[in-house]
Amino acid sequence: MPPSSAAALQPAPTNNLDAFWMPFTANRQFKNAPRLLVGAKDMHYTTSDGRQVLDGTAGLWCVNAGHARPKIVEAVQRQVAELDYAPAFQMGHPKAFEFAARLTALAPKGLDHVFFTNSGSEAVDTALKIALAYQKARGEGGRFRLIGRERGYHGVGFGGISVGGIVTNRKTFGPGLPGTDHLRHTYDRERNAYSRGIPEHGAELADDLERLVALHDASTIAAVIVEPVAGSTGVVLPPKGYLERLRALCDKHGLLLIFDEVITGFGRLGAPFATDWFGVTPDIMVTAKGITNGVVPMGATFVSSKIYDVFMNGPEHIIELFHGYTYSAHPLACAAGLATLDTYAEEGLLTRASEVGERFADALHALKGLPHVIDIRNIGLVGAVELEPIEGQPTKRAFSAFLKAYEKGIMIRTTGDIIAMSPPLIISEAQIDELVGTLADVLREID
Ligand code: PMP
Repeated sequence: MPPSSAAALQPAPTNNLDAFWMPFTANRQFKNAPRLLVGAKDMHYTTSDGRQVLDGTAGLWCVNAGHARPKIVEAVQRQVAELDYAPAFQMGHPKAFEFAARLTALAPKGLDHVFFTNSGSEAVDTALKIALAYQKARGEGGRFRLIGRERGYHGVGFGGISVGGIVTNRKTFGPGLPGTDHLRHTYDRERNAYSRGIPEHGAELADDLERLVALHDASTIAAVIVEPVAGSTGVVLPPKGYLERLRALCDKHGLLLIFDEVITGFGRLGAPFATDWFGVTPDIMVTAKGITNGVVPMGATFVSSKIYDVFMNGPEHIIELFHGYTYSAHPLACAAGLATLDTYAEEGLLTRASEVGERFADALHALKGLPHVIDIRNIGLVGAVELEPIEGQPTKRAFSAFLKAYEKGIMIRTTGDIIAMSPPLIISEAQIDELVGTLADVLREID
């Protein structure tokens, strides 16, 4: 055996924390105090030093039903032994069709078809490609522009970072795709600070779309993509009436509206999807994360019949969408997803955030007045506490809160100087108090 193969068979040295180039993480910082998770059950992680950490973020906003739920575990175990893999090109497997039918039955009315991917980023790129392909297929190929929003996060694919509004993406990777532009964001601390739930002010920010239509002409724009509630950039909520106005403007100008529900989908706000919560239906809806409870990677892009039918009943030369992934509708993901939907239904989890949301809001808003806190935002089981940045070090304070919180046994997330929480939907009221109460202690202790 060549020496390199022999080396590959050796158990990895646990002190090598450089081989794995970690995503969105400074390896050189992590190495000083590694945080390694070795187990998880229901609301808790177990750390490598044997501690229990309360999961205040549902992993990365994905483990909505809590960890290691028996139905899901069993479904995946059964599936891997029965049919481990099957291609989805020119053939299929029954669970892919069953899962798609279950999902479209759950999805908001009108979103009757679903395309499977392996992540939110891929589901976003799929949505953008479908929007462009749809416009071309119906003879509107001049509509090539894609409009996103400042502070939008749409994953890490080239399409997603181009329509997204994350400044560090521009700084790190350059300008992104041509033909994209951005609406103003809806973050307005001056008018909306400490708003409980949906903020009152700012519906008129949707009219910013008129600016872009005037600039580019509607006949060059294919679609507009927004997160109904921006999650990763700090839980930025749409002002009352904003999404309705955006929908009306898209209709007025013949633009497709895409909602990125990667975070808001599957019960986070207290309804199955944000689309249900707000009563505003997009033409395309992007999901991932909670679709399989985070157990097997999967994303899904839902489309309306208006779009699907162009491909199914369109001109002879367009009979398929020229797009797909080796692992689209992977059998393990479909099995995990079906068991996840069962778990959500049996335990009423897709509406639970509306039942405990008030308790969560009360706990969060009680943090007002603690050191460094300058804003608090919430909806359903997602909330954010914004801290006053230390001058010249805009992420430092929240990151030290994250480290201290982990030490004290709770998992939170930070983005810039904003702390976000999005616990599994099974969280008890006592655990809500524990999570937010521990955060209060953390805020009292950090500089
Ligand atoms: N869109 C949104 C709104 C997201 O929050 C995320 C991930 N946080 C993504 C897309 C990308 O999903 P993934 O990390 O699964 O590619």
